[in-house]
Amino acid sequence: MRLYSTLTRRLEDLPAPPGPIRMYVCGPTVYARAHVGNARPFVLGMWLRAWLRERGYDVTFVHNITDINDKIYDAAAAQGRASDELARDATQWYLEDTGLFGLGRPDLLPKATESVPQIVAFIEKLVNSGHAYAADGDVYFSVASWPAYGELSRQRVDQMEPEETNALKRAPQDFALWKATKPGEDTSWPSPWGPGRPGWHIECSVMAEDAFGPVFEIHGGGLDLVFPHHENELAQSRALGHEFARVWMHNGMLEFTGEKMAKSVGNVVTIREAIEEWGRETVLLLFLGSHWRKPMEFSEETLQQAKAQLQSFRDFLVDVPRGQEPLEWERLEAALDDDFNTPAALALFHEWRANGRGGDLREGLRVFGLGSLAERVSAPPDVVELAEQRLQARAARDWAESDRLRDVIASRGWLVRDTPGGYQLLSG
Ligand SMILES: [Zn+2]
Repeated sequence: MRLYSTLTRRLEDLPAPPGPIRMYVCGPTVYARAHVGNARPFVLGMWLRAWLRERGYDVTFVHNITDINDKIYDAAAAQGRASDELARDATQWYLEDTGLFGLGRPDLLPKATESVPQIVAFIEKLVNSGHAYAADGDVYFSVASWPAYGELSRQRVDQMEPEETNALKRAPQDFALWKATKPGEDTSWPSPWGPGRPGWHIECSVMAEDAFGPVFEIHGGGLDLVFPHHENELAQSRALGHEFARVWMHNGMLEFTGEKMAKSVGNVVTIREAIEEWGRETVLLLFLGSHWRKPMEFSEETLQQAKAQLQSFRDFLVDVPRGQEPLEWERLEAALDDDFNTPAALALFHEWRANGRGGDLREGLRVFGLGSLAERVSAPPDVVELAEQRLQARAARDWAESDRLRDVIASRGWLVRDTPGGYQLLSG
């Protein structure tokens, strides 16, 4: 299996199965309902985990929650709310909304607010090794102390856009690791430099290393995170002698085109709105048809096309007997093991449909959470939510709650079956 890495600008081989594959994908900053663009790294991560498991890998997928950030303070103040309450609510919304995809949950969802002591300890090491300096209650990473700075985004330091200008910094490209509490900020944590809070970049270095240690196989996120977020994560961790992530996967952004999407206010389409309007299967099929590295056109037209393709699979599968053996599975392996080429997989699915290969198609769609296309009816959102709650209960080993939810789901006419990637909902 090989994947394109932004760090080396080429395809990199993953170790042979079972690995392990430790994968960290930057999660949302929680202050509002998540934008449908935020769904792309989530869906890519869940699909990649499902495929790697299919291929015999031992995979751990960590997806963090950034619940300390300027945007949260700003949004909370504008609503006259406490920032920690808003962050708590928005975290729950993100879990519910991404749960609507029916792909299950990442293995671990660490929160910045639960990682502050580790973050302070990490910053102290950077200060003690001369890579960071304190200034008036803030702490900054010194870009001049790390000559490799710029290796991920391939920029020269003197040509970089400074993140924010600030008289306390020694150089404009230096970035904050710790910020002293400012008036109007209603949360703070103690530190050797006074009360304050961590900067965004250090949160991710620490949450990733907390989960995995100083080296792990895959780091993901949107293309917009290459600089400065991931450049800074890499510098902080490597400055301490940690290898950090080996393969850096950056997914392309969503492009909102077409009259209707362009008109929607500020192009804000939330995950929930997209799924409520189009259904989870249509949105997933649209994602499937775009290579993860390329931009993805999110428009009325592309969604209509995805919906039509979906119907063609459903129409075909409804008449195909169950229990057919997949016979051309190695063709799917060839497509997905080569840089996780989902458009090639989708083209293969259409070929299987045209050639009457129902067994292959059913199994292939199942990898991507689309096994429901072989069902006569797909589960409504409230049943998917119950199944997600049950998955959470199982992760917490609360078997009584899991059984109770199974019964509630059954009372709505659905059977929940556990699968390696999460669960499947069968009508009946
Ligand atoms: Zn991050």
